[in-house]
This record gives sequence, C-alpha cells and structure tokens, in this order.
Amino acid sequence: MTDKNILDICVGGIWRAGRGEAYASLYPATGQAIAHLRAANLDDVDEAVSAADHAFRHSGWAQKHPHERAQVLYRVAQIIRDRAEELAQTQRLDNGKPITETRALVASAAATFQFYAAACETLEDCLTPMRGDCLTMSVHEPMGVIAAITPWNSPIASEAQKLAPALAAGNAVIIKPAEITPLMALELAAICVQAGVPAGMVSVLPGKGSVLGDALVRHPLVRRVSFTGGTGTGKQIARLAADKMMPVSMELGGKSPTMVLADADIEHAVNGVLYGIFSSSGESCIAGSRLFVARPLYAEFLDRLATAAQRLRVGDPADPATQMGPLISEAHRATVERYVALALSEGGTIRTGGKRPEGSGVDQGYFYTPTIIENLGNSSRTCQEEIFGPVLVAMPFDDEDALIEQANDSVYALAAGIWTRDYKKAWRIGRQVQAGTVWINTYKQFSISTPFGGWRDSGLGREKGRLGIHQYMEQKSIYWGMNAQPLPWADHGSGPDEGQR
Ligand code: NAP
Repeated sequence: MTDKNILDICVGGIWRAGRGEAYASLYPATGQAIAHLRAANLDDVDEAVSAADHAFRHSGWAQKHPHERAQVLYRVAQIIRDRAEELAQTQRLDNGKPITETRALVASAAATFQFYAAACETLEDCLTPMRGDCLTMSVHEPMGVIAAITPWNSPIASEAQKLAPALAAGNAVIIKPAEITPLMALELAAICVQAGVPAGMVSVLPGKGSVLGDALVRHPLVRRVSFTGGTGTGKQIARLAADKMMPVSMELGGKSPTMVLADADIEHAVNGVLYGIFSSSGESCIAGSRLFVARPLYAEFLDRLATAAQRLRVGDPADPATQMGPLISEAHRATVERYVALALSEGGTIRTGGKRPEGSGVDQGYFYTPTIIENLGNSSRTCQEEIFGPVLVAMPFDDEDALIEQANDSVYALAAGIWTRDYKKAWRIGRQVQAGTVWINTYKQFSISTPFGGWRDSGLGREKGRLGIHQYMEQKSIYWGMNAQPLPWADHGSGPDEGQR
C-alpha cells in the first residue's frame, strides 16, 4: 500500500489543495494513512458553486441535445470499466470493503452511467391533449447546480447514482463525499472531465459535512440537494431546504425485517439472511437487521445460522476469499460495541459474536465479529435503532398478523425480505409490509432500472429507474396559441372566458 498525496479538491475543473484543514484518509483494515488531503473550506464552497453555476449557464452542456450528452456519459462508463481494477482497489483502501464487493460497486457505477446515457437519449416529453386553441405540452428542464451529499459506505456507487442522472439531465453537480472516504468522488470527477464533461460541471469538496454540507444546502445558487446518509442529518437538511422551497431527495437509514416462514427452503434462507446482514459488515442501509423466524423452525434455523455466521471469513479486504472486512473507523466500532452492550442491558443474549476477532491480520484494523442476539422484543431499542454494523437480532413469531405488525413497527421502512415456498403468502405479506423494496426468496439484489428509496424515516423520493432523471429536472407546461384571432379581451368582446377547459 502506498501513502500517496493526492490532489485534494476539485473546484471548477481545477484540482488543487483545499483551504481547510489537513487530514488523512485511513485504511480501516490497518488504521494506516493511505492519502493526505487538505479539506475544502467555506470559500471553496462559494467558489465551487459559482463555478458550477457559470458552467451550467455557459459551458453548453445543458444546451446539448440529449444524445450528445449521452455520448459523453457512455464514455464515462467505458473509462470506469477500463480502470475497473484500479478503482476497486482504491475504493477498498478508502473504506475497507472486501475487494469482491468493491469490484461489484465499480461495475455498478459503470452500469449506472451507461443506463442514464440511454435514459437521457430516449426520454420523451409529451404533448398533452388539446382542449382549445393552444398546443399544450409538458417538458422538463435542468435545474442548475445540484449538491450531492454522500455517505462512506459505498462511495463510488452512491456518487454515480447521483452524478449520472443529474449530468444526464443537464445540470452541474457538486459532490460532498463523506469526510473519511473522499477518493472515489475525486476519481469520478477526473473521469467525467476526461470523457468530455465540461470543466466546472463537476466539483468535489471533501471535508466536514456539518460545515461544507450545511453551506451547500443553504447556498442560494444550489437548486436541489440529493442526500444519502443518516436520518438525523437528512431531517436537518430537509428543514433548511424548506426555507428555500428547495426540493430534496433523501436516501436514509433502515432497520429492515427479514421474515423466514415455516415452509422456507432453509438452506437458501440461512444464506440469504447471512448475506443480508453481514455483507458489507452490516454497514448497509438495507441490512436485514431484524430477523423473524416461524416458531416451529426457530431453534433449528438459529442453530444453522449461528454455525454459518461463525464460519464467515472475516479479515483482509484484499483477499478475494474474505467475506467480511473491518468497520469503517474506530469510532464506528465503538458505536457498534455500545449497541451490543445496550442489547445485553435490555435482557438480550449473545448467540454468537459480540466481540472483536482475535489473531494476526485482524488485530490492527476496526474488525468486529458477526453477531447474533436473541431474547429481545421488537420494541427494544436494539431493535428500533439503526446500528449500521454486523449485529442481527433474531425473534420467533407465531402467526402472520403478529409478524406483519412487528415487521411494520419501526420508524424505518426501507426494505424487507421474505423467505417462503408459498407464493400466496409471499404475495400477501409482500403487499402488506411497509418498505421501499421487498425481496422474496432473495435479498440485497439491485438493478439500476428499478427505483429505490424508503418510506417514512427511511427517505423521500426515489433514485434509479429511467425516471430517476426527472428528480433533477423541473417540469414546465407550455401553451402555444394556434389561433390567428386575438384573445377576446383584445377587442373588449365577450368571447368565452379563459377558465378551465
Ligand atoms: P451521515 O453522518 O448522515 O453523513 C452523510 C453525509 O452527510 C456525509 O457526507 C456527511 O459528511 C454529511 N453531513 C453530515 N452533517 C451534515 C450537515 N449538517 N449538512 C449536510 N451534510 C452533512 O451518515 P453516514 O454515517 O455517513 O452514513 C450512514 C447512514 O447513511 C446510515 O444511516 C445509512 O443507513 C445511511 N445510508 C442510506 C442509504 C440509502 O440509500 N437509503 C445508503 C447508504 C447509507 P461527514 O462525512 O463529514 O460527516
């Protein structure tokens, strides 16, 4: 691993040191610095927003035909693919995810640009049915400067999910990546410029969210915020946005239920539940962190699940055989440990895990063992609060009504999983569970063509999908008079009034 000095921030197409504090990006598997940066400060925010606004109005990007913007976005996808392995390694170093996961994230980022290139050149506006002498239509226009604020858990994927549709729509974008994972956003900005996105259309401002993110949200020239992160932060941003009447989209936290019915294929369900909670070390908004198992199956299922959890390979993220890497930081591991202590104080018992792993290779970084907790009710704080770590709470259930009531008893409603061989039950429960995404006999599967987002405290708006591009556009109605006659008022006549037709 090299400790490299990288060019810290990107403002208006220029990479330079920020004017804020110096800090290091640490490799979570060892705690060693992998890059030294100088964060942006408030002057940098102002400069980046002015440059973005100028580029939006004068670079010609917004005025290009959609198929011309699409050509550039296809090139972005291709450059990401050409540099896939290098980007996957950088992402691994920046946030400590296993290399198999970061390779998948890079591939998904390329697919996102390709998808929005296609969406951009095929999206249609419409003529609305004429109800008088006007040709009427509904069209979409780019908004201007978009602030994309992202978390540390899957940087390249979450940044691509905002950047690609926002650029496809013709906007300028300022990315505020998580302070501790700044590298992928900087790489993406460089790739965009290399592909032909005009300078200034993409800026990147690493640094503290409470300072830079806040300033971006308040800035009068920022027209929309697309945010992914914690619910508390999201609500704070939404309150500020309300003062500007600025639209926001929010991808927030989760505490998703996974339900294993008595007739489930046990082997598939065990694998699915494990993957659902422990992949990405549980640092995933859609982690299936509350497990409900039909009581007749509970004992056998938990035996198999706990044995499989103990066998998970926790260790070196560079090793393709590793299934679980470290947590993102020492501070975050301490939070997870506090939650396990809370679970015990609430009467929970640890079935497996609940400690740091031991041995060489896992003694330096921020590792934690896959943890399963039992004997807690759904109303416990451990079940109600997002831990964002490898901690699963398992509970038996007795009947379908009680199951649905408990599954829905959460401020969050992001995702849910159902494991059953009975298609009627799958459909019934799938329709009653309150969640932005429901997986049936699978979990954590994604497609860029399928909208994603949460209900209630899990979010506002939808990312992905062909119409995800509309999040970054304003709708405009056009009435085009086709009548050679003047409007009635022109001759003070008494023609039909201009009321609703
Ligand atoms: P976070 O603390 O809310 O931070 C997210 C981003 O917001 C970071 O870039 C952060 O900067 C910035 N930020 C912090 N305070 C801000 C403020 N006052 N104004 C504007 N921006 C501010 O969340 P996190 O700990 O990075 O990420 C974990 C959370 O994200 C979990 O709750 C998880 O469920 C959620 N998440 C949701 C989804 C989804 O799609 N629903 C996907 C991934 C993650 P700093 O890094 O400097 O603090």
